[in-house]
Amino acid sequence: MQTLDKTHPKLQELKTRLTEIDDINSASSLLYWDQATYMPPGGAAARGRQMATLRQIAHTKFSDPAIAQLLEDLRPYEESLPYDSDEASLIRVVRRSYERAVRVPADFMAKMSLHRTQSYGAWAKARPENNFAAVQPYLEKTLDLCRDYASFFSGYEHIADPLIDGADYGMKASTVRSLFAELRQELVPIVNAIASQPIADDSCLHQTFPEDEQLAFSLKVIEQIGYDFQRGRQDKTLHPFMTNFSIGDVRITTRVRENDLNEALFSTIHEMGHALYEQGINPEYEGTPLATGTSSGVHESQSRLWENQVGRSRNFWKFCYPQLQAAFPNQLSNVPLETFYRAINKVERSLIRTDADEVTYNLHVMIRFDLELALLEGNLAVRDLPEAWNERYRSDLGVVPPNDSVGVMQDVHWYTGSIGGMFQGYTLGNMMSAQFFEAALKANPQIPTEIEQGKFSTLHNWLRENIYQHGQKYTAAEIIERVTGNCLSINPLIRYIQQKYGEIYAL
Ligand code: ZN
Repeated sequence: MQTLDKTHPKLQELKTRLTEIDDINSASSLLYWDQATYMPPGGAAARGRQMATLRQIAHTKFSDPAIAQLLEDLRPYEESLPYDSDEASLIRVVRRSYERAVRVPADFMAKMSLHRTQSYGAWAKARPENNFAAVQPYLEKTLDLCRDYASFFSGYEHIADPLIDGADYGMKASTVRSLFAELRQELVPIVNAIASQPIADDSCLHQTFPEDEQLAFSLKVIEQIGYDFQRGRQDKTLHPFMTNFSIGDVRITTRVRENDLNEALFSTIHEMGHALYEQGINPEYEGTPLATGTSSGVHESQSRLWENQVGRSRNFWKFCYPQLQAAFPNQLSNVPLETFYRAINKVERSLIRTDADEVTYNLHVMIRFDLELALLEGNLAVRDLPEAWNERYRSDLGVVPPNDSVGVMQDVHWYTGSIGGMFQGYTLGNMMSAQFFEAALKANPQIPTEIEQGKFSTLHNWLRENIYQHGQKYTAAEIIERVTGNCLSINPLIRYIQQKYGEIYAL
């Protein structure tokens, strides 16, 4: 393992400043974690202000000209080092973030942060009331702010590019569009072929499963896979997420539905995948911008790989199903493994993205991505969004939302200040998860047999070695190239879906 240089005084100074900023950001993340888990509703207004204040301080400190000077002073040192040395990588990554950050005024960041909290509050209230009119003005302001944000990055090809680039560095709307078009062309016939068959019976998952027992079981699952509880914990929330305050404190959240075994189980495995990534970063990177996942797509690939390629595989349940039956004997002792396996892999054209199966999921993402581009381009007004949403669900998935709560208001993203830049990562992540998993199997063909025996260390170590440890050192494109020898491609995902669902549905 390489170590970050301890001797160059300017690099030391840069690191000291970066760690101070990281401390402020971590405090802000902790405030967010608390808001989403234990904070009483009365804390909302002050909490929004507190987080905005911290973000503004961090932003001001990071865009300080002293950072620019240090980066400039370090340029010859950086150029004397190999590209993949930790020192050169740190300087490179900081320079990239710095050049982004200085384009955005600190008061804009604070305004955005405050708006985000207010908009989230409005959505949380309006969604159960099915009241789109109540969130429309917030969403209009979000759109204005996102367009303003893009305007700080003049010279872009598409107005969404600066937003996409912030989450998935190096990606553009045009690249994503063409990858999605290719993927869609392959997926639609598969979805149609499955939809013409009887829908799988998943009633075994919809009995009553007491909350405490579900939580205990899902914790046991992730402990066996390799989540480190000395460096993490799980709590309940409304919309599950992973967050971290250091490499030694990487937390996950989940939600439970007593009449749906899928929810807590797979959201826990999903968030664990995000957490394994962050727990696996080289500890030398602590407190620096290298100590984070490299892009939203790569991050999502790690959660989806554990959730789907592992967690929804027959091999995994050959190992784990007896434990599940023992935890819920009344509900499952008479349900055969194969029935359970088909239930957790039921394919259905449905309304809710987060509940969607692996085959239809990406169609949900594409709808949001296209609508975001139309909004940003000015070709779709916020007031027309519910109708546009419903129309796309009718044409793409053959279902029409009965109300906006399960339609245009279902996802939190647009209501936390992000139009553009967030949804593409889900599908890019699905593509990468299949591509990485293929590479892992090529290097270690015994992985499926090991999973069947409850042994996850070969896969976990391979991911740690090839992906996790590097944090943000390499870009997504570099990681894919290093790990698979290819660039990002839809083919591994299509192969995976064809093989798995071809067998389940005899396509
Ligand atoms: Zn995720």
